[in-house]
Amino acid sequence: MIELRTPTQIEQMRPAGGFVASVITALSEAADVGVNLLELDQMVHQMIRERGAESCYIDYHPSFGASAFGKVLCTSVNDAVLHGLPHDYVLVDGDLLSVDFACAVDGWVADSALSVVVGTPRQEDLDLIATTGRALEAGVAQARPGNRLYDISAAIGEVAHAAGLSVNLQFGGHGVGRTMHGDPHVPNDGRAGRGFKLKPGLVIAIEPWFLHTTDEIYTDADGWTLRSADGSRGAHMEHTVAITADGPLVLTARD
Ligand code: MG
Repeated sequence: MIELRTPTQIEQMRPAGGFVASVITALSEAADVGVNLLELDQMVHQMIRERGAESCYIDYHPSFGASAFGKVLCTSVNDAVLHGLPHDYVLVDGDLLSVDFACAVDGWVADSALSVVVGTPRQEDLDLIATTGRALEAGVAQARPGNRLYDISAAIGEVAHAAGLSVNLQFGGHGVGRTMHGDPHVPNDGRAGRGFKLKPGLVIAIEPWFLHTTDEIYTDADGWTLRSADGSRGAHMEHTVAITADGPLVLTARD
């Protein structure tokens, strides 16, 4: 079921968006050569405690998960692109790290993701991240009343195809509200002009993610981390966006 939020409720979602944005910024600053993924998880644990926020991940146990997630953020490195379970791994020069973080503040959830390279980047990784960022911007720009859901999908897919990337349709964006995942599913490709008409009050996570040379993924032995089928690297960028009468409001915008 698709739920619409009142303007007052969207205002109430701002603290969650702001906090998630501040965590993503802190992660992008802390991620560096020599840093262990478990240290990043601990840092965010601390930020959650200090803010009085509630993790969406730690007890998350969907049907496809082997057990409860047990960590407060996703850290996906190189050929891992989504749902990366933080583990005892020290980042090395040139690693491509995607962080994904969702939590609730005052009972409202926000969800955001960012990819960065630590140390000396490969140009192709910077290009992939830039393309993913452009796809996110293009999708957000379509999140306005009167457009249709797949206008967002088509805008994301267009950026991917122009860069020669193929798009996985299994995992994409989703409704956000009292919980992390709601309707609708927001695929990262589709035909413009299709899907239901976007209305003010719809709040969705828009989250393009692409791999260099494939759109196929498999689940790591840890039961969570999704890796590319061919070992190529991936990037993932996400914002929580409220559709308002004035257009898209990016709740997780960073300064
Ligand atoms: Mg997310």
